[in-house]
Amino acid sequence: MENPASPHSIPAELIDAIDVGIVVLDKHFRVEVWNKFMENHASIAPKAIIGDLIFNHFPEIDEGWMRVKSGPVFNLRSPVFIIWEQRQYLFKFGANRPVTCDATDMYQNVTMVPLVNDDGAVERFCIMVYDVTDQALSKRGMARLNDELKTASRVDGLTGLFNRRYWQERFEQAFKLAKRQDTPSTAMMVDIDHFKKVNDTYGHQAGDKVIQALAALIKRCVRETDLAGRYGGEEFAIILTDSPVSCATTVAQRIRRLAEATPVEHEGQTIRFTISLGLAEFSHDAKSPLAWLEQADKALYDSKQGGRNRYSIYTSSENEE
Ligand code: GH3
Ligand code: MG
Ligand code: MG
Repeated sequence: MENPASPHSIPAELIDAIDVGIVVLDKHFRVEVWNKFMENHASIAPKAIIGDLIFNHFPEIDEGWMRVKSGPVFNLRSPVFIIWEQRQYLFKFGANRPVTCDATDMYQNVTMVPLVNDDGAVERFCIMVYDVTDQALSKRGMARLNDELKTASRVDGLTGLFNRRYWQERFEQAFKLAKRQDTPSTAMMVDIDHFKKVNDTYGHQAGDKVIQALAALIKRCVRETDLAGRYGGEEFAIILTDSPVSCATTVAQRIRRLAEATPVEHEGQTIRFTISLGLAEFSHDAKSPLAWLEQADKALYDSKQGGRNRYSIYTSSENEE
């Protein structure tokens, strides 16, 4: 009985006409069939490759890897699939896509199927190469777009810090963590002093520049793991994770000094600004994230009352005289 899977039984015209790469290799990985798709993409004519080891023409195919990968084809007579997510390609072909500006190598899904002899032995196998570049690029494009959207929904446009909604979400997590663990974390509120005057004197755009300048120096002063967000117009909130208030005051002092020493230039004018800060280390008195934040806000209020351009630390009413 003739084996319908044998490439010799399929007309060569058909093998050449399909838009899939067809390669038949013997068990030593010598090329037996090389169709038009392969000829066109590799620029290698069948007569130049048939009888040769595939590795001699494609150095990107590691011989050891290929032997292991194609093992089940011979040992188990089962097909092997390689999808582009695992490996972009088996054969390095250029993908000529003038429409997309993404110059890239072809993305391939590859199937290896055993070709069984009349006597039941597998002496050769067929490699089918599918060009899935369009599919892969659009999937990757979507993933990138998703990432961008995710970032955009977390970040404040003016400052690049977390926006209020996202910051609050993270603050709630930090609150839960602080409640469970014994690591002290400190919440810090920052507010620009007499900011209305900045807007009134220099204009709203100048005010925006000051907000940006403060955000930039906050970023410089906090650690990667700290969460800095724009809480409101000219108000910022920062969670200093794993920081007792004694450490947080160092950060607060550094931000305060830097703000004082950072002039903002706007249309030839120099704007100086100061900030006030409020700090509250997590304590179990705070029954909710909001309660914790209100403690920091109360400390901020104390700074404003105390003359501004300073930081204050929240103390619970029991401790106050
Ligand atoms: P204080 O020292 O007590 O904080 O005085 P202040 O003038 O800063 O008072 P307050 O914090 O209440 O004022 C906030 C002002 O910030 C009011 C608003 O006009 C301005 N503001 C809020 N959001 C923005 C913004 O995105 N850009 C600019 N330029 N101004 C903003
Ligand atoms: Mg304010
Ligand atoms: Mg203010």
